Amino acid sequence: FQREIGERAPRTQALREEAARHLVAPTHFDRFVLPSAFPLAVAQAKGSRLRDLDGNEYVDLSGGYGPHILGYAHPAVVAAIQEAAARGAVNAVGNPDEVRLAGLIAAAFGPEHKVVLSNSGTEAVQIALRIARARTGRQRVAKFEGHYHGFSDQGLVSSWFRYRGDPRAPEPVGNSAGMQDAVVAQTLVLQYGEEDSLRRIAAHAHELACVVLEPMPSALGDFDPAFLRRLAAVCAEAGVLVVYDEVVTGFRVHYGGVQHLAGTAPDLTCLGKIIGGGLPAGAVVGRAEVIDTARTSGDPFRDVDSRAFAGGTMSGNSVTAAAGAATLLELRDRPQIYSRLRDRTAWLVEDLTAQAGDCGVPCRVKGRDSVFSVAFDHATPRLVRDRLAGLDVTATLAFAYHMRRYGVHLPELHTMMLSAAHSDADLEQVSEAFGKSVREMLST
Ligand code: PMP
Repeated sequence: FQREIGERAPRTQALREEAARHLVAPTHFDRFVLPSAFPLAVAQAKGSRLRDLDGNEYVDLSGGYGPHILGYAHPAVVAAIQEAAARGAVNAVGNPDEVRLAGLIAAAFGPEHKVVLSNSGTEAVQIALRIARARTGRQRVAKFEGHYHGFSDQGLVSSWFRYRGDPRAPEPVGNSAGMQDAVVAQTLVLQYGEEDSLRRIAAHAHELACVVLEPMPSALGDFDPAFLRRLAAVCAEAGVLVVYDEVVTGFRVHYGGVQHLAGTAPDLTCLGKIIGGGLPAGAVVGRAEVIDTARTSGDPFRDVDSRAFAGGTMSGNSVTAAAGAATLLELRDRPQIYSRLRDRTAWLVEDLTAQAGDCGVPCRVKGRDSVFSVAFDHATPRLVRDRLAGLDVTATLAFAYHMRRYGVHLPELHTMMLSAAHSDADLEQVSEAFGKSVREMLST
């Protein structure tokens, strides 16, 4: 690999070496969790394509982990960023862009909805959980095994690479060094789609502030509307708030989120990625009656007892807000974007599944509504922990490496995303690269 990188991408390789001297992980050269088999440093991003420092061009399936649903450098978003910057980038002071963005988000989620803006999905989840604790006066949070909610201590409990205990009643476990034991211990860990989880919520109701979950877990590639509806009923009965983490799925699977497809809504929704139009952003949205717990009473001495404080020097800054609002306006006014993404994702899942079957490669392709993944194992595990146990890391990395050689950039262990900028020709290229890659993987 090293020799090939040196030959095909010498400038990228040189920059990677320089990066290693100055930048600590996550450098995004070496991904979050694994060293990349084939690092990428981008000189230009346009539409569905990335060009590296050495002039190699790739169809991008990473979507920057999610924000770029319109494709890179969409003219409306570029113009909005340029205009906002030219007017003078402002933060920590009121500006019309943040009001426009909040208005668009609130309108997508329902009447009487209001928004708290933040700078990332991680922050949005932190704010939502604090609102839930402040409102209920309870401390504990329930979450689902394998659901990632950003890198806060609470968000990382039993989130990705380490799970513990009985699969039906998991024990909470930290997924990073340096986490606070007390936060881990305060977490109740559940399994998505399991009736047992609902019983455990009811049993712990007196101490639970909220249940936080990815309504469409990225590890699953689909959602369970009946489970989501049962969860809502059990939590309403128990006085436990439901918090949806729609940082990935918000404005991606639908204008709004999974909740608009599932026919059941949470008390609070966390957003990020798309609502920043490619710049750092996050938000919590919910009915005024709930989310107003984060609003000041006007008396800072009284607030310390009753208000869930949420700050952020850059939250609601005018450039991010302008980029986000321009993105949402495009999506709102061109709903055919979503139907086209749905059809193209379905086509790709079917095509790759058929090709893998023809070659006899043990590989599952799953996903919907522009989000999809390829896993190299035979089983169809129900629980995330079983999926992880069967994950072939070597095959996953080799796959990303071969796809790159055929002009397709994958986010390796992350789910893949299509954008509105992907053309039929891009999809054909992905399909062809997939066929060649899996055949080469079989022969080596
Ligand atoms: N929640 C989910 C479901 C996510 O996938 C992510 C990030 N990929 C986050 C929260 C955290 O968002 P951010 O990286 O913007 O902090």
